[in-house]
Amino acid sequence: MTVRLRPVLASLPAYVPGRTVPGAIKLASNETSYPPLPHVVERIAAAAGNINRYPDTFSTELTQAIADKYELDFSRVAVGVGSVSLCGQLVQSAADAGEEVLYAWRSFEAYPIVTAVAGAVSVQVPLKDYVHDLDAMLDRVTDRTRLIFVCNPNNPTGTAVGRVALERFLSRVPDDVLVVLDEAYREFVDDDDIPDGTRYLDAYPNVIVLRTFSKAYGLAGMRVGYGLAGDPAVATALRQTQTAFAVTSLSQDAALASLEPEAEVQLMERVGEIVGERARVREELLKMGYAAPPSQANFVWLPLGERTVEWSRACEDRKIIVRPFAGDGCRVTIGSKPENDAFLEVAAQLL
Ligand code: PMP
Repeated sequence: MTVRLRPVLASLPAYVPGRTVPGAIKLASNETSYPPLPHVVERIAAAAGNINRYPDTFSTELTQAIADKYELDFSRVAVGVGSVSLCGQLVQSAADAGEEVLYAWRSFEAYPIVTAVAGAVSVQVPLKDYVHDLDAMLDRVTDRTRLIFVCNPNNPTGTAVGRVALERFLSRVPDDVLVVLDEAYREFVDDDDIPDGTRYLDAYPNVIVLRTFSKAYGLAGMRVGYGLAGDPAVATALRQTQTAFAVTSLSQDAALASLEPEAEVQLMERVGEIVGERARVREELLKMGYAAPPSQANFVWLPLGERTVEWSRACEDRKIIVRPFAGDGCRVTIGSKPENDAFLEVAAQLL
């Protein structure tokens, strides 16, 4: 007899992490190339002196600091082990077995996994011209729909939905369906027409905005994300579904240190540089003849179709690691200027 595991595990798509190859430039995981801020490293080192103690399981100080930043009540904020864990906890909170979770496709590859693990059913709605087709998503809402992910800007295409489309959508979604605005890349948005999801929290209690310290804040290895909820009950659900003591004391302190005003100024300067590089990289790619939709995130999308895997292998042979989605396209993270130059040189060779 072999151990009986849930059959759903056999059919789960794998989460494919960006490859790390010694000596190569990694542009595969939407991380920042900048090293951590020195005072953040110091705070982590100081916190290491207390790791014989459990962390504060509800990340109280960090939750309050985030609440203060967004001028929200503490009860509407919840911290998690990266926003990817919050995605899973939200599905577990909203959808029972067989109920539906709706999202665009292609989008963040964790959505189908967390949905299937929870026993819920994925309903995927194709992107239109690389952008969320919110009207088509509305058409797919049924009385079994419990949660809708809107990834804005979208991973991996970098595209974002604008104010008019999003407001139209939010006003039409049934108010008992949880709408998760996954804004992992929000800090990189420079188009004024792309709305900040937090502005909808008061009008729409069924909305929760997810943010992360992994991208703009450069703490991918610390694993801290958070949810800003329209309804405190949703933040409570996140606390209920979290594994006890999941966010380590080192992670909590690193995030707190990153929220200090001086740190935020430095981090947002870096974001400005990445945004500038994003425009330059895309422009160069377009000049070469590549298609690349406008991006509002820290990466660009190359819809290479059937060439995708071959193209990413050729990049890897030239010591540049990008993230292929077979048959569809490659996502390329914006790195430092020299890293981007190296990538552009390779892209020119692979036309
Ligand atoms: N949402 C989106 C859209 C992402 O791309 C990612 C990271 N790839 C996450 C959430 C999760 O990030 P983290 O768990 O590091 O906060």
